This record gives sequence, structure tokens and C-alpha cells, in this order.
Amino acid sequence: MSERAVSVALPLPVQTTFTYRVPAGSPLPERGVRVLVPFGPRRVVGVVTGAEDPQAGVELKDVLQVVDEAPLVTPPLLDLAAWTADHYLAPPGECYRMVLPPEGVRASRAVARLVDPKAAEGDPVADALRAGPLRVSTLERRLGRDPTSRLARLRREGAVVVDQDVETRGFRQVRVAVLLEAAREPRGKAQAEVLRRLREAGGRARVADLLRDRPSLRGALDRLAETGALRVEEERETSSLDVMPGETPGPFSASTDQARVLETLDAAVSDGKYRPFLLHGVTGSGKTEVYFRGAERCLARDRGALLLVPEIALTPILVRAAAARFGETVSVLHSGLSGAERHAQWWRIREGYARVVIGARSAVFAPLTDVGLIVVDEEQEASYKQEESPRYHARDVAVVRAKLEGAPVVLGSATPSLESWANSVSGKYERLALPARIGPRGLPKVEVVDRRAVLKAGGDPVITPPLREALELRLARKEQALLLLNRRGYATSLICRECGLPALCPNCSVALTLHHGGKRALCHYCAYESRAPEACTYCKGAYLRLTGYGTEKVVEAVKAALPAARVDRLDRDLAVRRGAVERVLAAFEKGETDVLVGTQMIAKGHDFPRVTLVGVIDADVGLGMPDFRAAERTFQLLTQVAGRAGRAQLPGEVILQSHLPDHYALRLACAQDYAAFFENEMQFRRTMGYPPATALLNLVLRARDARDAAKGSAALGRALRDGAAGRYRVLGPAPAPLARLRGEHRYQILLKGQRRAMREAVKRALVEQYGEVRWPGVAVDVDPMTVM
Ligand code: ADP
Ligand code: ZN
Repeated sequence: MSERAVSVALPLPVQTTFTYRVPAGSPLPERGVRVLVPFGPRRVVGVVTGAEDPQAGVELKDVLQVVDEAPLVTPPLLDLAAWTADHYLAPPGECYRMVLPPEGVRASRAVARLVDPKAAEGDPVADALRAGPLRVSTLERRLGRDPTSRLARLRREGAVVVDQDVETRGFRQVRVAVLLEAAREPRGKAQAEVLRRLREAGGRARVADLLRDRPSLRGALDRLAETGALRVEEERETSSLDVMPGETPGPFSASTDQARVLETLDAAVSDGKYRPFLLHGVTGSGKTEVYFRGAERCLARDRGALLLVPEIALTPILVRAAAARFGETVSVLHSGLSGAERHAQWWRIREGYARVVIGARSAVFAPLTDVGLIVVDEEQEASYKQEESPRYHARDVAVVRAKLEGAPVVLGSATPSLESWANSVSGKYERLALPARIGPRGLPKVEVVDRRAVLKAGGDPVITPPLREALELRLARKEQALLLLNRRGYATSLICRECGLPALCPNCSVALTLHHGGKRALCHYCAYESRAPEACTYCKGAYLRLTGYGTEKVVEAVKAALPAARVDRLDRDLAVRRGAVERVLAAFEKGETDVLVGTQMIAKGHDFPRVTLVGVIDADVGLGMPDFRAAERTFQLLTQVAGRAGRAQLPGEVILQSHLPDHYALRLACAQDYAAFFENEMQFRRTMGYPPATALLNLVLRARDARDAAKGSAALGRALRDGAAGRYRVLGPAPAPLARLRGEHRYQILLKGQRRAMREAVKRALVEQYGEVRWPGVAVDVDPMTVM
């Protein structure tokens, strides 16, 4: 018999899969099955990516153990992992790991079940299964031979399904007391009390709940179990969702606009075919309700729905609404889950207990089966892009997954990315529109305050006189205000008055930001933290001056201007504390806070009926960034935050403070004119050669040694230029925007042109320079979000 082999993706930062021999006599593991293999001195669990023909004369190592008897996830997910690795030139093992159970490799057992009892008469496997489902391993023992190939055929014919039996794996068990029909007379007060409690609970309750306030009843309960008055069972714990307290409105009867969108969406869900939509709905137009109804339609058709949001921690209100709407069948995946919880959620989804999955970027790989709808909310958000390997964009992966699953996908936004809008213009995506806000109120009135004039007149440029007046009016009327400044901390830098240089991070080439009232210095890139320096590191000058200001300083300014105001703050500094975001939002929702100051975190998704004023302290923050998306980001942020004002019965007002009141991003955000912004911005992208007018591929090379970094990147730059043949342009190598980061030297090469040609050229050049397996110190970013 000839040798058989499989290719295996290992969870390592390597670019290739590896080939292993399958020992004679053992079944050939299917694609998607995990296997234990030797790798150097170690043993590693990898995943089979396909069968291979072993090359003659090549010595192969053996697969040591097959972990799963059947693939853990469906073929579309395996295809998705493969696509991700290919498209982003990412290590395949890292991509397959995204679709597999999050941690711990526990052997799972496969159970085979006959679904068509009339099928395959005489087939020994089918005959063995006629009496009931069997573990594949049992089947093997019974038949005295390997059932794999017969099983595979029966599965193809649809006669048998093989499923994972993971009864107790990864789940916490809870003890449940069940009252039995013929309950005996209790003996003594304690037993009577236990039975009374159990009856009150409807005859079935968790032991822990029954005894919560009286643990001393345990003995009585145990005796009742012995005498047969009740039975104690083990039951899988149903994980309860952590939702923010408060009321959730809805479900609503759909508005006319919503009904029109839903009609199209319903048809798409019923058809069960790939169909991509861009849902352009102004802020407050009721997109969430559309998503939820889409999900309900999926559930009604026995299909699952996947809802991606930019960041779970920032969407507690949506999570609460989903929990109220879908209850037990929701699974929320977020970074705060413990390893065990993550594992449990993975299996809940995989086994179909959870059919509505909500999560941030990595949830695009959730093991949901029979996917009926994928939604990407706020599709323009940069957080969908993973900035470390594998560097994928969850929105784009979502569209590919929809294609592989054969499902509609909805990209929703009030301010779509230029990429998605361009796709809707070209007809690649179908456009759906919710052009109006729900309710009687139109979009808020927007006023721009020219900060240059305020400064000239000697006014406070942070809380300008018009903003201050508007705030006072809100306090008097007991309404609320949001103040946005997209810069956290106290001051943006500490500058030496003698030599004019800012205090820099010792690891990175960036200025330190001041926090805690100016007492602590923090690097926003590497999290370096120290006491604020007292002297300049360059000239030893002792006179340092704080410049620029962040959210902390704004809180101080509001308190100074309006001593009676109750002010709170929401930004990433706060978000690191567990539950802090929920606390701040809940207090604001209850009206315990008058003014909420924050970064872009306050611009998203929240819906507070008593907010009638939104102030943008410095609308130009983003425009100063050397990033081709600066105008797009500014337009998005301003539109989003303006949409937070006046959402219910009360009219809204927006005040933008700016030095550049004539910039098109500002002007068109004020007018809430997305189409005009798109035209303006596309002009710029075409002229300068940026997406979506062209594709980008960015390479960053880093090394401890400055000369290594320079030499390596120069050689790569040459190779890439040689291979260009007019299909792309090569810019650089040049020192990367953060030329020193975390103590390493970094160079950057930017390619602009045809994506496929760039990807192939980069792969070829890297293989030539570093070999097939590893590209140490090289970060490949296909479709980068920012390049500076
Ligand atoms: P978006 O996400 O588009 O900004 P939301 O989904 O937050 O908008 O909806 C805006 C507000 O309108 C929310 O308070 C929501 O509860 C409410 N809403 C949505 N649909 C309806 C409806 N059909 N009838 C009444 N209120 C609705
Ligand atoms: Zn740093």
C-alpha cells in the first residue's frame, strides 16, 4: 500500500503547512480534524488542511494521534480560514486557530447517527447504527475495523450524520433538585421546609438557589434524596448574560422605511443565498431594529444570525436589547470572557444552543452553523481591522463568509466607509436606505464656532462662550450634554521651555501624554508609564510646560465654568476597569450626570433621550493626522456624535469648535451630506492613489539593530521594484512613522496598485529573502487601514 500523508497547519507564526505521514492502518484524517504531531522537540496540536501525496524519497514524520474523529467545524469555516491565510499572507495555523475552539485541546468524541433508516440496507455501519446512535470509536470496536471510509460515504449520501459529543466538556455542571411524584411525607421541619421551597419553585430548582439563605438545610435535602422524595440531577449550566441594568424599549412596529428595508431583507433571508447589502441609515433611523428582525427571521427558518459590532464593551445597550429580545439563544463574545467562559460559549454556538451570536471582530469566525444572516454594524469602524497577525479586516472576512455560507450580509452605517460606498456605486453591493430618523424630530441644528475668533477676543478656547451658554441652558432645563474630545489624558505633551523639545517615550519615537492631572506620563503606543519628568532629558532645563489638552482637562474646564454641573468622563483610560463603562453609561442614562465628557467612545451607538446638546471641543483633532483617512474619520466622527443630540422628543443642538470651519469634512458633516462628502473625498483618493481608488499593501520590517533593519528593507524594496512591471508602485523603504517602537527600529515599504499582483510579488520576494517558512521581523499588511 502506498504512503498516505496530510498537510497540517500548526499554531505557529509560520507561513506554511507541514506534511505528516499517516501510519499504515489508521484512517486518513479529514480536513478540519485536529491531530497531534511532532515538531522539533515538541508535540503540537495542529489541524489537517487536506490530503497530500507524499513525495518519493522524502522522509516524513508520523501523525502521533488523531484528536477528533470528525471535523469540529463546517466546511465554509475551514474555507474561510484558508481564504484568510491566503488573502492576508498570514500564517495558516494562526488563521485556522481563529475557527477552532479557543483553548485547551480536549479530545472530542464523534457520534454517528442514522438519519435515514431505510438507507444502505446491508451496510455493516448503517446496520450497526439502526439500533441507535453510536460513538465512532464504539463502532470501530464493534465492527472490528475502521469505519471511516464507509461513514464518509454514508454521510455524503445523507444517510448518516456525525456530530460531536461534548456532553460535559468545558461546561460547568450544576446540581438541580427535582421533586418526585410520589413524594413521601417529610420528617421534621427541615425536610418540610426543603419540600415547601421546591414546590414553590415549581418542583425543580438549583440546589444552590434552594439553600442560598439556609445552607443548614443541606442535610435534610440529602436525606430526602436518599428516601426518594426528590432526585438530584446534574445539569449543564446555562451561562447567563451580563447585561447592564435598565429598561429596553421595543419590539416596535416597523416604520415605513424599516418595513421597506425589511421586505428586501426577509426575501434575502428566505432565499438563503449570498447577497451583500449596504444599509445606509442616518443616526437614529432604527438600524438595530432592522438587524433584530432579520435575526428573528433567521430563527424562524432554523438558521442562525451573526451580528458584529465594533466593540462589545462600548455597546452594552445593544447587548441588553438583544438579551431582552432573544434570551437564552444569544451568545455574546467579548474580550472580558474568561478562558472557560469563552470555551463554553464556543461550544454553545457550535452545538446550536446559541443561534444569535453578537461579538466584535473575531466573532466573524464563530462556529455558528446554518448561517442565515451576517450583519456588520458600523462597518466603517477601524476596530474591525486586526492590527496584529493575522491582520484581517472582519468586515471583509464577513462578506467572504457570507459568500461561502450562502447567506445575505448587511453592512450597516450612517457614514459608510468609502470602500463600501464605492462597492454600492459599482453595483457590487445593493444599497438599502433608512433616510430619516425615527420619531418627530429631524436631524439636529449644527453651529460651528470659529475658535480663532474666540481666541482673538480673549475668550476660553476650550469651553467657548457659545458652548458655555448652551451648557447653562441644559442645566437649567435639566437636560443633558455630551462633550467630545478625541484625545484622552490631561495634556498632550510636556515641552521644555529652553530647547522646545517634548518629553519622549524611551521605547518609541512619540511624545508622552500626561495623565492624572499632569502627574503621570504615559506612552499611548507601548503603555510605558512613569512620573512626569521634572527636567528636560536633552538640555536638563527645569522649566517644562504642558501643552495641548485631553479629556481630563475638559472635565476640569467644565467644572470651573459650571460649578453646579455633575460631570463624568468616558474614555479608554476608564474602560480598562471592568464594569466602568457600564457604570458611567448607567449613571448618565439615569440622569445622575449632567455632562458626559469623552473620546469617540461617546459618539457610538448610545441613545439617550435627554441629551439635547452635543459639543465638539476640537473638531480638527483628526484632521491633523498624517493619515489618508483623516478627513473620512473626521466626517464620520462628527456625523456620529452629532447624531447623539435630540434623539427622542426633545430637539437637539450641536456645537462644533474648530480652527478650520471651512474644511469640507466639517462643512459636509454639519450638513449631514454623505453623498457630497463621498464625491469630494473620492477626488482626493483618486488623485493621491489611495483606496478605494487603488489597493494598498504595507510592509513593516523591524529589527533590534538599526543597520539590519535598513539593509533588509533596502533589499526587499529592490526586489519588489524589479517585479513591479507597471502593476504597482513601490514607495520606500523609509523609516516607519513610528521609527522606533518598543525599542526596535522600523522601516516601511508601501505598495499601491493591483492587489493580487502586489500580494504575489511580496510573497515571492519574502520567500526569496527569508525562505518559505518564516519571515522574521516582517509584518505584512494587506489592505491596511492607515498608512502615514
Ligand atoms: P441607529 O442604530 O440607526 O442609530 P437605533 O437603532 O438606535 O438607530 O434607533 C433609534 C431609536 O429609535 C431607538 O431609541 C430605538 O429604540 C427607536 N426605534 C427603532 N425602531 C423604532 C420603531 N419602529 N418605532 C419606534 N421606535 C423605534
Ligand atoms: Zn512607548
